[in-house]
Amino acid sequence: MNERDSENIAALFVNAGHSLSDTEASADVIVLNTCSVREAAEQKALGKAGHLCARKGADGFPIVGITGCMAQNLGAEILRRVPEVDFILGTRKSADIVSHVEAVAKRRAEGQRAAKVKRRSKRYPVDTSHADIDISDDEFSHNAVKHHLDISGRVCAYVSIMQGCAMNCSYCIVPQVRGPERSRPIEDIVDEVKLLAERGVKEVTLLGQVVNAYGRGSIPYENGVSPFVRLLRRINDVEGISRIRFVSPHPSYFRQDLINAYGELEKLCEYVHLPLQSGSDRILKAMNRPYRADKFMRIADSLRAVKPNMSISTDIIVGYPGETDEDFEMTKSLFERAGFDMAYIFKYSPRPGTKSAQLADDVAEEVKESRNQALLELLAKQSQAYNDRFVGKTVEVLVEDAAKRGEALKGFTREHRKVVLTGGKVGFCNVHIERATVTTLEGRAV
Ligand code: SF4
Repeated sequence: MNERDSENIAALFVNAGHSLSDTEASADVIVLNTCSVREAAEQKALGKAGHLCARKGADGFPIVGITGCMAQNLGAEILRRVPEVDFILGTRKSADIVSHVEAVAKRRAEGQRAAKVKRRSKRYPVDTSHADIDISDDEFSHNAVKHHLDISGRVCAYVSIMQGCAMNCSYCIVPQVRGPERSRPIEDIVDEVKLLAERGVKEVTLLGQVVNAYGRGSIPYENGVSPFVRLLRRINDVEGISRIRFVSPHPSYFRQDLINAYGELEKLCEYVHLPLQSGSDRILKAMNRPYRADKFMRIADSLRAVKPNMSISTDIIVGYPGETDEDFEMTKSLFERAGFDMAYIFKYSPRPGTKSAQLADDVAEEVKESRNQALLELLAKQSQAYNDRFVGKTVEVLVEDAAKRGEALKGFTREHRKVVLTGGKVGFCNVHIERATVTTLEGRAV
């Protein structure tokens, strides 16, 4: 999502007549679009902002601004750590970024330099006189993330279809920093996808915090079909687009019409990232995740009934407050039964400002680590087994760009398996798979 928002910000500058700099050192303006989901991400962004501000010349350039979730979460408090930051814009304010930067640039051209403010301890109010700060709400901001850079040869693109989240999982800060759930109109999204198709894009990934709740409260169901599935059908009809993905759905909104869509829409890829978080109903309840483990399994089974080669990846948190060995065994067992072939496994750490941060973080670090390792080992086994199925077969690969090593290209199958290939070119290729590792398929274009 941040990658998409960053591209939108870059496109806003280009549309306003500015140009993108090849290097940080030659930039007049540097925007750090930040993440807040873990505290480490915030610390890293603050450190980076400090380095950038230390490089400012006597004229006050480069202008350094902070956008995204950390900007929303910390607001003016950022200036305590990095006083020379020029602007701070919240998650619903990035559409105004160009005018903020131009205002700062004008002040710098007139000789107004950011005050030499010292870091201030929490005993004193923070000095905001030199910085533009706006972290207020904007009820139409979700409609503003629609600009793309015109990148030649690009075959994949993200499309933001909604903003915010209303789920309030106990460990998550997203609802606070991304605001209420708001969905873009179907027609606007379809127009954006058509434009991308005209520019040569073949695959679109629809983005939303709870992407399958798209339209909730603002766009009606039609004949029992959810707004999200209606949107998928419309995109399936866009000429030039060959693949559709989406991320991240929530198990609670994964209903029959969406499962059926996998059988009906030929462009919908056989891959879903479906966050489980825990296989224990007790822990799911504590996390405020309103589904049960057996419902999750029913979704996975139904998807595989429609598409037997369905790849399912997930997110898991181990060591949530109160997680017992028994709870973890349930997670492990479901992890195996669901046959995840990719997973992001996190060791729980409390995030200030969330509900679970008030609970005792009572699972010992070494227990979290051993649970993490146990799932990683299982994942490696399952992922290898899934990848081995491709060996000896010829599959459709959408080649995106050159792989890191040598001249080989890389791309993805419909099931989102990474393929490194010899021969071929950017775009669709048929690839004969010769080898499989845990993470990668290797083959040659035929
Ligand atoms: S669904 Fe839960 S985990 Fe996902 S963004 Fe919303 S609150 Fe966070």
